[in-house]
Amino acid sequence: MRKLAFALFILTFLVLVFSVPVFDQDRVSDLDDSVTLEEKEPTLLYGMVVDDHVVIEDKVKRNQFLADILKEYNVPVKLINQVSALPRDVFDVRKIVPNKKFTVICSPDSVRTPKAFVYEPNAIDYIVLWFGDGLTVDACQREVKVVEKTISGVVNSSLSQTINEMGISHELTNKFVDIFAWQVDFQRLQRGDQFKLIYEELQVEGQPIGIRQINGIYFNHFGNGYYAIPYDQGNGLDYFDEEGNSLRKALLKYPIEFTRISSRYSGRRFHPVQKIYKPHLGTDFAAPTGTPIRSVGDGIVLEAGYKSNNGNYVKIRHNATYTTQYLHMSKIAPDVKPGTRVRQSQWIGNVGSTGLATGPHVCYRFWKNGVQVDALRVELPPSEPIIEEHKQMFSVRREEVIRQLQAIPSAFADTYASM
Ligand SMILES: [Zn+2]
Repeated sequence: MRKLAFALFILTFLVLVFSVPVFDQDRVSDLDDSVTLEEKEPTLLYGMVVDDHVVIEDKVKRNQFLADILKEYNVPVKLINQVSALPRDVFDVRKIVPNKKFTVICSPDSVRTPKAFVYEPNAIDYIVLWFGDGLTVDACQREVKVVEKTISGVVNSSLSQTINEMGISHELTNKFVDIFAWQVDFQRLQRGDQFKLIYEELQVEGQPIGIRQINGIYFNHFGNGYYAIPYDQGNGLDYFDEEGNSLRKALLKYPIEFTRISSRYSGRRFHPVQKIYKPHLGTDFAAPTGTPIRSVGDGIVLEAGYKSNNGNYVKIRHNATYTTQYLHMSKIAPDVKPGTRVRQSQWIGNVGSTGLATGPHVCYRFWKNGVQVDALRVELPPSEPIIEEHKQMFSVRREEVIRQLQAIPSAFADTYASM
């Protein structure tokens, strides 16, 4: 019965109804007032004037080697060999990845002589191979801008819907969930819960490429207001409530970024593989194979290896009280071995379905004083609050953050006024 009830509230939540970019005004419109010039500005691409050139953009295909691509665009064999012989730290041609973008710039003549080849392994880095009499290589980086943004939203529907429809980064939702993981049960958000969020987006050429950090949250859940105020006491950014209590616990609540819980801890459940009733002394988080698993806290690796039921697994002792274990990994991180020390959030392996598992998930097991308990129900001691010598500075920061959050127009009023 509990399982059925539980299934009913899997993935209830968040729709950001309203989004207010603060500093992200459309820069292009600023240029609209300028006089139209007769002469066209030269088009620059990767530092090269490409007017009257042929620019071809494509993506690396599966099993495609760089040499194949270069051959296709008539790069002379002599230059291809030089590219293949480049030192690995300049350009490792073996690390060309499918689906990454490349650009070929050719002369407009009938031969289409290749002038340059550009490979972009990520949004920031790009490598330019210039083909002249010889080969020249430039490893370049685009400028990354940090833009502070604010949003406000009302819980209405599912998390996946939020991410798809609002165009808001999954990364932001994960950070948000991580900060409040101990205050709010994200499986049980209710319609009408509302939030305001200040965050820093990383941008390259005006396009978002990631989230740097969250700079403040106000969250109203079941009519209770929660604040998250960032502050660094000298050992990294942490989040605190208005009183200066840490929102973080000694252990993270989830061993992977927030996902679907496919099976909860239970004294009796029908085992999907063995087809018998037996206790499930863990929490299963379903996630795609390869999803990184993190240690929920600092600790020492007790076991890291393979067993027929567990598959690849890691067991970590955090202190005299708490021990955790992570099962069915597709892969264990290479530096995670019995006796090694791990930090909270450190990558320890990837989600898989090794051992006794029907599909990819991590089975997360939790011991308190040597007894297996439900990780989602256990009460953990909080991390250190704001210490005496930081109290003054923290209260200044708190006032700033709260003022800034209050200035964000409420999505709630907006949504319900229009109904
Ligand atoms: Zn399990």
